[in-house]
Parts: sequence; C-alpha cells; structure tokens
Amino acid sequence: MSEKTIFKRIIDKEIPAEILYEDERCLAFRDVRPQGPVHFLVIPKKEIPSVNELAEEDAALAGHLFVVIRKLAAELQIHETGYRVVTNCGPNACQTVPHLHFHVIGGRSMSWPPG
Ligand code: AMP
Repeated sequence: MSEKTIFKRIIDKEIPAEILYEDERCLAFRDVRPQGPVHFLVIPKKEIPSVNELAEEDAALAGHLFVVIRKLAAELQIHETGYRVVTNCGPNACQTVPHLHFHVIGGRSMSWPPG
C-alpha cells in the first residue's frame, strides 16, 4: 500500500493543522507557508490526487469545495477586497502534495499573471 500523503495524515488527525472548517466531505486549514496574510487550503476527504483524477461522480464534491471557499472567504473578511483560488496539477504547476487541494490566498494585492 502506498504511503499516506501529508494531507491524508491531517485528515486522520495524525499531524496537527490549524483547521478552519470541517465536515464529512472536506477540510480547510491554514497553509504552513502562507503566501499572503490569508492563505488556507480546502481539500476533499476523498483521496483524489489532482484535478486529473476528478471523476464525473465527484462533480458535487468539487462544487461543495467552492461553496466552502466562498463561506470561509467571507468569514476571514477577504471577500470584498478579493482573493485568488489556485489548484496546482502536476509537475509543471509545481504540485507537491498529491491530494487535490485549492489554495485560497488573500489579504494583499497580487499581480497577474503570477511569476
Ligand atoms: P502544492 O505545491 O500546490 O502541492 O501546495 C502544497 C501546499 O501545502 C504548500 O503551500 C505547503 O506550504 C502546504 N503544506 C505542506 N504541508 C503542510 C502542512 N503540514 N500543513 C499545512 N500546509 C502544508
């Protein structure tokens, strides 16, 4: 059996994280290396490695993750100034953790395109 990812270990509460939200389908926690004043990750509890493996049956789950993002952005007061939602998929995008996750970054002005 392959080793658990760091995010699966956070889901299983084997390692700590600053959890902002949790329900039966997903978890949101602060990124340990924040790229802005607010930087959190929203992940499904289901072990989906990346967008590449997202199936038709995961459509409602993917939608749910975005509703959680919207609620947390409002809670953390970045909804009016704006924020970025990013998912890295594969080596060219520098994905480091093979468990689907959405970065939500806000609290500062950002350039586009990113470097
Ligand atoms: P990515 O490069 O898109 O795969 O992003 C992985 C993100 O996970 C990075 O921003 C890391 O800082 C973050 N990260 C890695 N380990 C942890 C952890 N134990 N708790 C919170 N965030 C983490």
